[in-house]
Amino acid sequence: MSHRDTITDGNAMNAHDVNQGLTRLEDAQKIVLDATPMLGVEKISILDALGRVLGEDIVVERDNPPWDNSAMDGFAVRWDDIRQEHSIQKPVTLAVIEDVPAGKLATKSVGPGQAIRIMTGAPIPKGADTVLKVEDTEHTAESVRVFKPEARGSNIRPQGEDVKKGERIIERGTKIRPGEAGMLAILAKSFIFAYQRPRVAILSTGDELADLDERFSEEKIINSNSYGIAAAVQDAGGIPLLLGIARDTPAALKEKISHGLSADIVVLSGGVSMGDYDFTKSVFRDLGADMNFWKLAIKPGQPLAFGKIQGKLAFGLPGNPVSSMVTFEQLVRPAMLKMSGLPSYGRPIVQAVFQEKFSKRRDRRHFLRGVLTREDGAFKVRTTGDQGSGMLTSMVKANCLIDVPVEVERLNPGDTVNVQLLNGDAWTTHAEVHPSGPHRMSCC
Ligand code: AMP
Ligand code: MG
Repeated sequence: MSHRDTITDGNAMNAHDVNQGLTRLEDAQKIVLDATPMLGVEKISILDALGRVLGEDIVVERDNPPWDNSAMDGFAVRWDDIRQEHSIQKPVTLAVIEDVPAGKLATKSVGPGQAIRIMTGAPIPKGADTVLKVEDTEHTAESVRVFKPEARGSNIRPQGEDVKKGERIIERGTKIRPGEAGMLAILAKSFIFAYQRPRVAILSTGDELADLDERFSEEKIINSNSYGIAAAVQDAGGIPLLLGIARDTPAALKEKISHGLSADIVVLSGGVSMGDYDFTKSVFRDLGADMNFWKLAIKPGQPLAFGKIQGKLAFGLPGNPVSSMVTFEQLVRPAMLKMSGLPSYGRPIVQAVFQEKFSKRRDRRHFLRGVLTREDGAFKVRTTGDQGSGMLTSMVKANCLIDVPVEVERLNPGDTVNVQLLNGDAWTTHAEVHPSGPHRMSCC
């Protein structure tokens, strides 16, 4: 069995250790993403496509609209017949030779001096090149009087106006939104190929843990991580598989992790520190090769194990609830998004004006749980308050993570900070709301 423990230390050195043997998050992210494969594709119904990532290019097989059609309820006419100057006093009168109801095709063609009544969306009858709006005419069943000139080709949607045959209209790697789902329907795609959703086995470790359905006793801590992480997996488009709690023995840990290896990713929390009951490191070693153990230069979330066990990604996240969520955000979620076929793996980032005073040492990158608002046209951000890594209330209150770089020692009110949005409608939840206003947003 080959261990990369020593190589890990090498990695850590190559990875520009900040100091005290801490590894920069960017370097850990690169190692994780380089080791992450993309999953295969599967055939799914268009009705299950929302939020899925397209695993094929969608190429248009026929023009849409498939024929020139009317943009209005009105009369299909020959422009030559109505081109002359005419007015209220001197209207042109045309013979109505057919009335085509919705869903039917005209059987006749429009000759000189003739018109065919058609509905919006109906194919333009042969001979006609212009549509008159019904409201610009006076008509009976037999004739139509035209008072207003129209340009040639008016009120006609040309064939292929929306999409043209041969066009690559939706690219592989696109996340399906309602617009894409509608387009797939226009193209008559009842099934598409989508990337498989990553299956993530979740394991909590610790003798102190009790699960939700166990009788609660004083000395136990409730296993919240499994459920918070399961939700984070779903939020990233994955399928959580809960392995329950492993007791703090190498055998228990090994058995549970082995079960988890049928998934694409194994995420365990707890047991990655250097305590007497922290066996993750040794069990990961026993189970396979290519492990990296890091002390990450981030807060919250210092100790972290990552590697491949039998070809599957395995993460040992810190046990404290906020630390496990923040490290999941920064490392597991990007890996899941890459697996899912997406081209970018980060949360949306906005710049916001910090509202408080904050200081730290120049040793770690901090992810403060924050509340982002939009006031007077600018993003503003404050912390959720107490930032203890055991205080899950900070994640409940937060709509963003404030990213404070390693080198920054001090933030003052008015300083600009980068903020990772934890949900898409982050700035509509508080204070003054300008949902359609301009804002700066980029994706990492
Ligand atoms: P550990 O990294 O195993 O030393 O865990 C650090 C702390 O995280 C423990 O003292 C627990 O309070 C907490 N913790 C560990 N696992 C969980 C879990 N599954 N759910 C909630 N808290 C946990
Ligand atoms: Mg523990």
